[in-house]
Amino acid sequence: MSNFVIAPPAQASIPVAGGGEFPVRRVYCVGRNYAAHAREMGHDPDREEPFFFCKPADSLVTGDADMPYPPKTKDLHHEMELVVALKSGGANIPVDTAMSHVWGYAAGLDMTRRDLQNEAKKAGRPWDMGKGFDHSGPIGLLVPASALPDANKGKIELKVNGQVRQTSDLSNLIWSVAETISYLSGLVTLEAGDLIFTGTPEGVAACVKGDVLEGFVEGVGTVKTTIV
Ligand code: MN
Repeated sequence: MSNFVIAPPAQASIPVAGGGEFPVRRVYCVGRNYAAHAREMGHDPDREEPFFFCKPADSLVTGDADMPYPPKTKDLHHEMELVVALKSGGANIPVDTAMSHVWGYAAGLDMTRRDLQNEAKKAGRPWDMGKGFDHSGPIGLLVPASALPDANKGKIELKVNGQVRQTSDLSNLIWSVAETISYLSGLVTLEAGDLIFTGTPEGVAACVKGDVLEGFVEGVGTVKTTIV
């Protein structure tokens, strides 16, 4: 018997390749972690420390399910990303031990209401409603860390309706996976179940209803969703 006064919400989770579910605690996202994307958004990547925002754990969309076109936007953008899943955490994790906290990886989409994000930037307001809306995080199957022995190398690509829209390589990450974990753990205590969307390469653009998004990270796998 629990002492909750209403039924507790479901535990968010993402499916693992080969079976099982990875329980999700928090979903962190890195902003502007590829130089060419920072430049396309009007920033100088050489002058910035990494920065972070969050999505709710229950905004993840799994199993190649459809993504409803969200309300209050006319500019829904795709951001194709490598997602890191942590099996342990801590505070002030050194770069040289950071990778020991990684359980595995997935391909994910940081879907963004760009018009709301841009309005928030201009007004100096939080990005939450631009980034953390319902169904804003389609994500593919999680694979164990051994599938990607070098997390800083490998093709990352997104096709929309069969046409390549984003293509880059994990070697273009400004802050490596280890550096990202280390830096973030200086801001918040990381724990098992945390996910980190590591940022998107250049080529972000608007999606419309009916678009089929198919992302791929070499060594990791795919993410697929249809905007409905
Ligand atoms: Mn992003």
